[in-house]
Amino acid sequence: MTGIQELLLSRIRDVADYPEPGVMFKDITPLLADPAAFTALTDALAGIVERTGATKIVGLEARGFILGAPVAVRAGVGFIPVRKAGKLPGATLRQSYDLEYGSAEIEVHAEDLSTQDRVLVIDDVLATGGTAEASLQLIRRAGAQVAGVAVLMELAFLDGRSRLAPALDGAPLEAL
Ligand code: AMP
Repeated sequence: MTGIQELLLSRIRDVADYPEPGVMFKDITPLLADPAAFTALTDALAGIVERTGATKIVGLEARGFILGAPVAVRAGVGFIPVRKAGKLPGATLRQSYDLEYGSAEIEVHAEDLSTQDRVLVIDDVLATGGTAEASLQLIRRAGAQVAGVAVLMELAFLDGRSRLAPALDGAPLEAL
């Protein structure tokens, strides 16, 4: 493990049985409160923007907003929020996806994405991959290119990586 990985890992708090029994919640608020760790994370994600040639960042509600926005500023690219359905005021594209029980919907402002864009999706945790997969479907439906997905953490035992593979279509999934 690199020094940066050790620093980041040391600032993630495991909270057992939150928000429901059996879930180990990965709480990133200690990392956000530590400027050295938050800066290291922002720099590492900005490096992925550069390596993938992304021209836009999509941040997934809500922690993807907190992580993605400073990366967009650092890398000099635009930031686009992907929100839970019903929160964006303009004309949207909407994508539904399956959860363990039931389904969920996310949206993006249609005018925010164009065929010129090459988009990196940023979030804190990749779990089942359902949210990230739906965001990639939104990006592709808008005609934009997928530069990749970058997350702080991947819960490998849930194998979101396999679920994402078709939507990534060769683009990288980077878990710091
Ligand atoms: P999924 O769609 O299953 O990959 O879930 C990803 C979304 O749920 C991300 O936006 C995460 O912030 C959140 N999430 C899922 N599992 C966890 C967990 N164990 N700890 C923290 N956040 C989680």
